[in-house]
Order: sequence, then C-alpha cells, then structure tokens
Amino acid sequence: MKSTVDCFASRVFDDKVMRERLPGEVYQALQQTINDGAALNPQLADTVAKAMCAWAIENGATHFTHWFQPLTGITAEKHDSFISPSPDGRVIMEFSGKELIKGEPDASSFPSGGLRATFEARGYTAWDPSSFAFIKDRVLCIPTAFCSYSGEALDKKTPLLRSMEALNRQALRILKLFGNQDVRHVSTNVGPEQEYFLIDRELYRQRRDLVYTGRTLFGARPPKGQELDDHYFGAITPRVQAYMEELNEELWKLGIFAKTEHNEVAPAQHELACIYRTANAATDNNQLVMEIMKKVAEKHGLVCLLHEKPFAGINGSGKHNNWSLSTDTGINLLSPGDTPQDNAQFLLFLLAVIEGVDEYQDLLRLSVASAANDHRLGANEAPPAVISVFLGEELTEVIYALETDSEYVGSERSPMKLGVDILPVFPKDTTDRNRTSPFAFTGNKFEFRMVGSSDSIACPNIMLNAAVAESLRRFADTLEGVKDFDQRLHALMRETITSHKRIIFNGNGYDDAWIREATVKRGLLNLRTTPDALPRLLEEKNIRMLIRHGIFTEAELHSRLETQLENYVHTVEIEARTMSEMAWKEILPAISAYTASLAAGRGGKETADSCEGRLIKKLSALEEQVMDRLEMLDAAIDETESFRELIYSAAYVRDKLLPCMASLRESCDRAEKITASEYWPFPTYGELLFGI
Ligand code: ADP
Ligand code: MG
Repeated sequence: MKSTVDCFASRVFDDKVMRERLPGEVYQALQQTINDGAALNPQLADTVAKAMCAWAIENGATHFTHWFQPLTGITAEKHDSFISPSPDGRVIMEFSGKELIKGEPDASSFPSGGLRATFEARGYTAWDPSSFAFIKDRVLCIPTAFCSYSGEALDKKTPLLRSMEALNRQALRILKLFGNQDVRHVSTNVGPEQEYFLIDRELYRQRRDLVYTGRTLFGARPPKGQELDDHYFGAITPRVQAYMEELNEELWKLGIFAKTEHNEVAPAQHELACIYRTANAATDNNQLVMEIMKKVAEKHGLVCLLHEKPFAGINGSGKHNNWSLSTDTGINLLSPGDTPQDNAQFLLFLLAVIEGVDEYQDLLRLSVASAANDHRLGANEAPPAVISVFLGEELTEVIYALETDSEYVGSERSPMKLGVDILPVFPKDTTDRNRTSPFAFTGNKFEFRMVGSSDSIACPNIMLNAAVAESLRRFADTLEGVKDFDQRLHALMRETITSHKRIIFNGNGYDDAWIREATVKRGLLNLRTTPDALPRLLEEKNIRMLIRHGIFTEAELHSRLETQLENYVHTVEIEARTMSEMAWKEILPAISAYTASLAAGRGGKETADSCEGRLIKKLSALEEQVMDRLEMLDAAIDETESFRELIYSAAYVRDKLLPCMASLRESCDRAEKITASEYWPFPTYGELLFGI
C-alpha cells in the first residue's frame, strides 16, 4: 500500500509534476503566467496540454472537463473524452492547447440574472492556471473561469481573481511607502473550517424534507439535544472515524491539506479544517471538499448535510473563513512585527481591514446572505447579523492610545507614549478568544464567521478583498509623495481610528444589549434577513467602489442581485411545497390512523374521560389545527407567483410564507409528541441525531 506521503497530491498536476514533465522554458513561462498573470503563448499551451494529457491518461483519466463555478453555488462540469478518430480508423488520445485554454459550454441553462437577455446566450470557460488541474473520477478537471461572450462574469471565480488582483495592487503601493522594494506580489490567503452533519442514509431517505430541501421542516425537539455539551470534541464513533479516514485519503490525493477534524457542539455535527492557501485555490478546494464529503458519505451508508440549519433547536453549520495577506517574500502582513517600523506597517494594514469592514458592512453581510443562513445568523448560536470586529484587549488598547496620543500600558506594564516611530512590541499570540464575534482577529489573521456551511467562500472573500483594497487605496493616495511621512501617517491612523472605532467590539455578540447598542448608539447595520441585505449591493457607494477596482461591472452587479433574490424565493417556495405535501400525505393520515386505532381499541366503547377518550380529543383538536394551518399555507403558496418584481416576492416569502410554515410546523410537532411511534410516518429528531 502506498503511504500517505506517496498518495499526497497524486491526482494533481501540481508544481512538482509540471517541473518533471515540462521543458524548462515552458515551465518558466507557465510560472510567469501563474505568478504575474502574463499571457501564455499558444504554442506553449500546446506543450502544457500534451504533458497534462499524457499524465492524466497514465493516471487513469479518459475524459477532461472545464471545471467551473456558476452562480448556482456548486461546481459544473461537462465531460469530453480525449479520444479522437485517427486516419487508420482507430482512435488516438489527444488534447490540444486550444482545448486547455478555452471551452464553450452552453451557457443558457446556468443562472445569469438577466445578462443572457441583454447579451449573447453563449458563454465560454477560460483556463485559470493559478489553480492546479486534478483528476476526479477518471476525469481531468481543469479549473476555469466562466464568462459570457461579451466578457461579463457568469461565475464566482472571475470576480474573486479580480478582487485578489485589486488587493495586490493597492497593498504593493503601501508596501513601497514603507520601503519594501523587493516585494513583487501580495496574495490573499484563506483557510476555511467546514462544519457538517452526518446522518444515516436509510433514515434520510424516509424524509422528503431532507431529500428535497436538505433540512428538516418538521420535527419535535428530542428529550436530549446538545444541553450536556458532551459531543464537542468528544470521542468519534467507529463509523464516523471510518468515514473521516476515507475522506482524508480522498482529499489528500487531490492535494488538499485536510488537517484537523473533530466533533462539533451539536450531536452528529463535525468539522474539517484545511490548511490555508491562496484564496483562489482555497475556494476551489473547498468546493471539492464539499463534493467529496457527500460522495464518501454515500459509500458509508451516510448522508452528509451541508445545510446551514438542518435541525431546528440544534446548532447550525457555518464555515469560518480565516483570511490574511502575505508577500511573495514570505511576510504575513497581519502579523505584528519585531520592530516599531514593522509595527507601523502592521497597524496600517490592520486599520485598512477595520475601515473596510466598517465602510462595507453591508457588502460583507450580503455576501453570506441566503435563505438557509437566515436561520443561523442572529439565532444565538452563530454570530449576529450585525457585523463588528473583535481585536482583543491588548490591540484595542494600542489603537485607543494611538488615537488619543495617550500613554499605553501594555502587558509589559511600563507606560509608553505611542507614536508612529515608537510603537510597542505586541505579544504575538493574543490568547483571548471570542467565539461570538462575526469578525475576529486571531493573532495573525482575521476569521469571518458568518459564512454559511454550504456557501462558496468566493463571495465573502471577494467583498473582503474589495473593501480592504479600497481602504489601502485611500491610504496610499493620502501618503504617496508626502514629505512629512511619519506625521501624515500618524494623522491618518488617528483619523481612521476615530472614524471607524464604532465597529470594534470585544464583548459578547449574542447579547441583546449589544444589538441595541450597535444599532442605536453606534449606527451599525442590522440586516437581519436576505431580502434586507441583498438590495444593498446596488447602493451607490458599493457600485462605485466595486467598479473602481474592476471587480464587477454594473451589469454584473444587477445580474447577481437578481440571481440571488431568485434563489431565495425558490428555496423557500420549495420548502413550503414540501411541507404541504408532507402534511397532506403523511402527517394528517398518521394522526387520523392513530386516532382511529384508539377509537377501535375498546371496540368503540371508550368514554370521553377514559385515557383513549382524552387522547382522541387532544389529537382531534390538533388535527383540526394542522388542517387549518395547512390550508393557510397552501393559499399563501398560491399567492407567491403574483408579484412582478423579485424584491417584492422575496419580501412576501419572508413575511408571509415563512411565518405560515412556522405555524404549521408548530402544530405538527405537537402532534408528533403525542402520536405513538409506530404511527409517525418518518424518523424523528432523536433517531436522526443519535442514529450513528
Ligand atoms: P484556530 O484554532 O485559531 O481556529 P487553526 O490553527 O486551527 O486556528 O486554524 C484554523 C484555520 O485557519 C486553518 O484552516 C488554518 O489553515 C487557517 N490559518 C492559519 N493561519 C492562517 C493565515 N495566516 N491566513 C489564513 N488562514 C490561516
Ligand atoms: Mg477557528
């Protein structure tokens, strides 16, 4: 058997393989393309394609695909075989540079949010050499960007790459000001921590809600939930252990550094973290992680649920997005330095993040908005819908001292006056941890915790990169070419702190008092639901900033808003229809059958105050209530189609459909509690959550 080291990245056309298989000058040219985005000449592309094809065939591949991420949030692929007819009537296996660089999938079945109407229906995929090609299920997958023929992005990768480039450009300007002449590139690094649930496949199949919507729409609270906190970091059961082992192996083969795994707070919930990489590769990897998690689960008779809130009353799943910036010379720009000069630079980058997050709270919030994530954010388990930044006591003190020009008493306990040329040496690893902050500084990176578990991490990183690029641009504009650099820097820092310190909050984000303070006193946004958040995409300041940095065009922004609103409306509609079906076809018949059996039990001789009689009365009352509420839900569903504009449909779905669903659920869950197990038509929460 091959060792882990041998298997690692065995299915990736990575740097090692390229170095081995490409002629020296082709390898060099490709490196330039990867690192600086230089165009690759077509002849070289042919050589790369040949090498890639030979390697893929040796490793069992028969087909290739341009692998991309349309706005649906999952990845798409269309397989073409390497086989071409040869003149002697047989076949040869081949793959050209042209096929590597560009593909033409039919764009018309992917969401485009109106771009299709205005532009051509066709689209093309373009090779992204900065993310390695890999083999999955005998198919060579080539990571690509997906655009309309007129160049509008129809995917998540294109704006992500643009945002990374924008951030690189602005960060380099700042680094030059601090005398870093040797830095050529600044990259965005991302390490996501992925939460998920595992449940038994047989039980899953018996629930239409899980099958159609990925979450339970009914289900009474089980006697035991997560009260005892006995699952968190608890012993992993053999079945889950076997799953995790195979998952790791599969991921390792794809060169994905799956590092930590543990049980989460909720029963049946787990987490997997991968070692960070550049944002683009991390995003591609995370898409693969989600796909492979599901696939491996199937082999083990399990189902992996990535929905943000599969079970009411039980913690939902998120994805912590760890984010930092580093130079090609190996310096983490969010790591406090050893010298005061390094620290001035560190503080400026830190302030760029603080300003960016404050100015563009709405963009960050909407980048994680979805029907599913609405059940999490603000529900006392995940961060609130209000965005704030956690810095920790030490760093907050430094910032305040800097703002007021006062003395700073750090952990050294010797007061010192802060100036740009005299900054303290910070403790490198701040030990304070805060689990309730949506956006926390954790020593040398920021952790954005609002991201939903099923979401692509592209969107949050696009917005984060954009927001920080914009602050850095403003800083560079202010500081470039000035004579009194130190004074100007100090003044800029002070103003920035004064203008944006409202976003800094080190307390408990779950506290109601905080939400009041945040919104009333500090004027922070509380965009509670997806229909509240999404329209902010088209705020004047947001459009201006995103266009300025070349991250989105105005047409793309409109298209994205439309796609997401549509997705929200459809998601809830499908849930509502699933509930209606389950209630009519399963729940009502179950209550009736049980009631009838009670009535038949004593040969119809039960009296009103006998046990059966009392139970029948309760059940009948509930049955009637279920019926009433079900009819209300059906009426509400019918009305969903009546709105001309998506934004009104979305508001209707939120204000009318979701409350109708909640009220039907409440009656059904009460009925479940008093119906005999053998009559209840589908597995209960207890069975689902404690079944493995
Ligand atoms: P914590 O316990 O603070 O969450 P871990 O070391 O477990 O930290 O890391 C959590 C995630 O953060 C991992 O995916 C890891 O790769 C990632 N990470 C660590 N350092 C960085 C960094 N400098 N930039 C981006 N992500 C990082
Ligand atoms: Mg973490």
